[in-house]
Amino acid sequence: MKITVIGTGYVGLVTGACLAEQGNHVFCLDLNQEKIDILNAGGVPIYEPGLKEIIERNLAYGRLIFSTDVSAAVAYGDIQFIAVGTPPSEDGSADLSYVLEAARQIGRHMNRFKVVVNKSTVPVGTADKVTEVIAQELLNRSLPSENFSVISNPEFLKEGAAIEDFMRPDRIVIGSQANAAGFAAKEMMRQLYAPFNRHHERTYYMDVRSAELTKYAANAMLATRISFMNEIANLADVLGADIESVRQGIGSDTRIGYSFLYAGTGYGGSCFPKDVSALAKIAEHHGQELKLIKAVEEVNEYQKNILVKKIINRYGKDLAGKTFCLWGLAFKPNTDDMREAPSRVVIRNLLMRGAQIKAHDPVAMHEARLAINGDMSDCTELLEDLSFHEDPLDAAQGADALLIMTEWKSFRSPDFHTLKQALAAPVIFDGRNIYDPQLIIDQGFEYEGIGRKAFQ
Ligand code: NAD
Repeated sequence: MKITVIGTGYVGLVTGACLAEQGNHVFCLDLNQEKIDILNAGGVPIYEPGLKEIIERNLAYGRLIFSTDVSAAVAYGDIQFIAVGTPPSEDGSADLSYVLEAARQIGRHMNRFKVVVNKSTVPVGTADKVTEVIAQELLNRSLPSENFSVISNPEFLKEGAAIEDFMRPDRIVIGSQANAAGFAAKEMMRQLYAPFNRHHERTYYMDVRSAELTKYAANAMLATRISFMNEIANLADVLGADIESVRQGIGSDTRIGYSFLYAGTGYGGSCFPKDVSALAKIAEHHGQELKLIKAVEEVNEYQKNILVKKIINRYGKDLAGKTFCLWGLAFKPNTDDMREAPSRVVIRNLLMRGAQIKAHDPVAMHEARLAINGDMSDCTELLEDLSFHEDPLDAAQGADALLIMTEWKSFRSPDFHTLKQALAAPVIFDGRNIYDPQLIIDQGFEYEGIGRKAFQ
């Protein structure tokens, strides 16, 4: 099939590459010339395991095109994926300007029947807005306004495991309109995704609004599990209980399960924070208050600072003269994504209190520099107290404590002897509970995790 993907970010690029890998011909459009130049030069503008190889292979087969040419992009694909960003607006609702601009581009340039697929995460009712925008553009061109259909096909991939998630998804959700064009569009989507359903049927067909809501409900549920565990972990700290034992105790109940039950320094990234807040806004817009969802957000905001609170408990509010080593900056492992990463909150807070920071991340240091420079624009002089280190042990050298901010695999089994020698004091604040506390204590460290007071 001939496909166009509008937006070559995490979702668009993975979608385009994986659909090309299935034998489709894919035109990837982006307005960002720099991104397109990198891709055409054989590079990949984001870090995502396995993606580079797929892109290289499909470029060589001539199945992938990267371009900024809007009219060529719209002319190309029978199916037009919209995979542009939907960042939060000032009030927390989803900013639809990029999605609607992409719809406008399609309406301005389309010349035959098109299936328009919303892959971006969008509020319920957006497919109707996209339909209106395209119809208006067609009307402006004196063309029949029913020569297209809008599908909702939300994406559930996880950064860091995006290729695996796209190629072997838990489910594919297709929301289509109940009219002749909608039936035709649904059939084209069925054909497009047929290779992903060979082993067993993974596609759920539904109406457009249900598909749109499914994405928000899924992310809100996952965020709820995280905030729930963080709240119980903080309670475990007060009670002298161990959250890991509790996690295993409750996860063994098949109604609960083990996934997404880890306490830590809060969720971040480009999806959970904005989607949870957008869901609350959607409800508010319709006169409903989502009390649980608001509490999930509140707990998360508190949790992002939990390590700073623990540090203040130990060293006091004034951290002048103290040096902290941070291992991990990305919001989760296997990505360089720094959007809403809890490390940003911790770094700003520690710098404001006069601390020095030595930071290391296996892949996110470039993105981290950009993000933190932005966060600290009102007090740039404090950036002198922040340094980045390619080697994790260099970062630890002379620090008063080590903070684990991201659970990268490479942090799990360091040489504790060398680490202890590098640190000025053998103290670990484990914001992701990656270590066995007893083992760390036996090696002569002082250990503080999240909800692990049973070990002190
Ligand atoms: P991103 O910011 O990484 O990429 C968006 C891209 O779209 C950018 O490269 C931008 O230049 C481009 N763009 C914007 N307007 C354009 C236009 N009119 N024409 C062509 N290109 C345009 O965003 P992302 O992380 O890929 O997310 C995209 C959507 O997918 C969002 O709605 C997000 O919530 C959703 N989503 C993201 C993830 C994830 O893990 N990142 C997972 C599931 C769903």
